[in-house]
Order: sequence, then C-alpha cells, then structure tokens
Amino acid sequence: MPSPAKAYAAQSATTPLAPFSFERRDVQPDDVAIDILFCGVCHSDLHQARSEWEGTLFPCVPGHEIVGRVTAIGSDVTTFAVGDLVGVGCMVDSCGTCPSCHEGEEQYCEGTGFVGTYNGPDAHLGGHTFGGYSDMIVVKQGFVLRIGHDEQDLAAVAPLLCAGITTYSPLKHWGAGPGKKVGVVGIGGLGHMGVKIAAAMGAHVVAFTTSEGKRADALALGAHEVVVSRNADEMAAHAGSFDFILNTVAASHDLDAFTNLLKRDGTMTLVGVPEHAHPSPSVLNLVFRRRSIAGSLIGGIAETQEMLDFCRDHGITADIETIAIQDIDASFDRMVKGDVKYRFVIDMASLAAAA
Ligand code: NAP
Ligand code: ZN
Repeated sequence: MPSPAKAYAAQSATTPLAPFSFERRDVQPDDVAIDILFCGVCHSDLHQARSEWEGTLFPCVPGHEIVGRVTAIGSDVTTFAVGDLVGVGCMVDSCGTCPSCHEGEEQYCEGTGFVGTYNGPDAHLGGHTFGGYSDMIVVKQGFVLRIGHDEQDLAAVAPLLCAGITTYSPLKHWGAGPGKKVGVVGIGGLGHMGVKIAAAMGAHVVAFTTSEGKRADALALGAHEVVVSRNADEMAAHAGSFDFILNTVAASHDLDAFTNLLKRDGTMTLVGVPEHAHPSPSVLNLVFRRRSIAGSLIGGIAETQEMLDFCRDHGITADIETIAIQDIDASFDRMVKGDVKYRFVIDMASLAAAA
C-alpha cells in the first residue's frame, strides 16, 4: 500500500510553497522507508521552485539534504535496519549499468541520467519525484547513506548531503591537501562547507566573499586568509598564486577576476549554477598560463559516504539556522540576499502543525 505523505510544495514559479498531500510508493524489496527529521535548504531548491532553471515540474516539493530514521525495510535490504539514522542526498536512482555508474559516479549516469530526489522521473508511480520538504520518503537502499555523527548533531549533518559532497568531491578530485593553496569563492551554504573541508584536508585556504561582514566568520570556519573580492588591492595581492579555486557563487559574475589568481596549470572549478550565464571569460588569461575552468556535479554515492565519514572523523558539521517549514519562503528571500549563516535547515516536526 502506498503511504500518505505531507509536504510543502510550490504549485507554480510565482506562488509561495504551501501544504501539499501526496503518496509515497509501497516499500519494495530493495527499499528503505525513512521518517524525515530535518531537511537542509539548498540554493538549488530555490532555483528549482522559482523556475530559475528550465524544466521545473509542478507541484514541486524541493529538498535534497535529507536526514531521518528508518521506519521500514524491504525484504532484500540487509545493510539498514529499522531505527537507523540515515541520509538521502540529490539522487534516488540511476541506470546502474553505464560506465559512470560502474565507476561509482552515478551523478554522471550516461544511461538514463540520475534520478533527482525531486523533479526526476518517478518510475514507480509515474509523474515526477518529490523531495525532502516532507514527512517521509521511500528510497532504494543503494541511494541511502549511513549517518555516523552523534544524533544530537543530526540537523547540522543534513547540509552535508548536498553542500558537503558538492565541495568535498572537487576538492579531492583536484588534489586539495598539504602544500596546496586553495580558494573558496562565495561563503554561503556550499562555500562554508568548502572552507571547513579544504582546511581539514590540510590545504592553505583563502575565502573570497563579497560581504565584508563575513570576514571574521570565514576565519572562524577555518580559512587562513579572507579576501573581500570587491577590493581590487586585496585581489591583486593573490595574483598567480592559487593551485585550485572552488567557485560556489549562485549568480552571474566576472570569472576573470578569479582565473587571474591561478598559478600556471591551476584550475578554477565552478559548482554554482546561476540563472543567467557568466560573461565569457578571457581566453588570454587561460592560454598564457595553461589555466583551466572546470565544472563539477555533487558526488557519487560511495564518495558521499566517504565524505560523511571524513566529516564525522574531523568533527565537521554545517553552521545552521533551524527554521519551521512555514518560514520557507521568507528563508528563500533571505538566501537571495546572502543573509544566511550558513544554511537553513527545516525542523520537520513543524510540518505536523501545517494544515
Ligand atoms: P547560497 O547559500 O545562497 O550561497 C551562495 C553565495 O554566493 C552567497 O552566500 C554569496 O557569498 C555568494 N554570492 C555573491 N554574489 C551573489 C549574488 N549576486 N547572488 C547570490 N549569491 C552571491 O547558495 P548555495 O546553496 O551554496 O549554492 C550555490 C550555488 O551552487 C547555487 O547556484 C546552487 O544551485 C549550486 N549548486 C550546485 C551543485 C552542483 O552539484 N554543482 C550542488 C548544489 C548547489 P558571499 O556573501 O560570501 O559573497
Ligand atoms: Zn543542493
């Protein structure tokens, strides 16, 4: 029997999120049913709900930083038990047979493409998938993560499921570590995790922010230096010195200001996906020092588990502000203004009070 579920959904790009009822699929042999306790609020949720990207399917239930407790398992599930604390990130399925899936890079699935936790095709019930701004979810066991942090940290662990892995994966791929100078651009949900993780990996970390008010915070997060990127002199002092820059900014901006700061053979990887394109970067800036601009999408399931375990071992969680689901639109508005320290997390107990 499918289970009735409650959520908050956007019915269109211009209407506020509001209470919404729907059904989650019956637990299949390979499935885990999860009571959602907390869900982080990613800027991608806002882009999707407000249709800033192409292709939002309505009603839209966002949320892909899900943590909760297992309430039921299918007959073939051996790795999770009822009562376990678990997480679900941005993906709930992929083809499982293409080269990327075989290599544990399900986010780059070349078969069917990965199935998004929201706005993806729902192969079980038809229509599209609904995300974590809801009270429960049913997910294939291979896409469920184990939470090893203390239960009291659960709300602050939720953002690791997207912001954590989206920064950990490129930092690891491009070799952040001792002896490397790493920049993190944009100190928001992703950026503040990037600073913490790059510092824990042993890199020399420089945080770039447009907000003078984040200077002290960035140092407290673990940055060794902070640059206010609107200040040309501060930027010039770092010219040609970075091995790697992770750019998390959620808006269109001048990339040359940062490619200029890369060493020969340095790379700037973009993870922010703004609504409007960046101005075309200078080719001269790239060719004269063999610099690269790259992109990176979340991370695979095995790497997400590795990141969760790394963060547990290094005492890393997100800096969060807990909100009630009823405050979600006001929180989106604050996120647009950069007024978040540093991730909103919805306490899903508030959903019980919804109409
Ligand atoms: P966020 O919390 O809103 O942080 C973005 C930060 O960018 C802001 O805090 C701000 O930092 C900086 N920024 C500078 N100018 C801005 C402007 N005009 N508008 C907005 N931000 C500006 O967002 P997030 O959740 O970290 O997500 C960042 C981006 O990554 C989004 O586009 C999101 O969709 C994308 N994303 C991509 C992936 C992936 O797999 N590639 C995964 C998740 C999210 P300062 O105040 O320090 O300047
Ligand atoms: Zn996200």
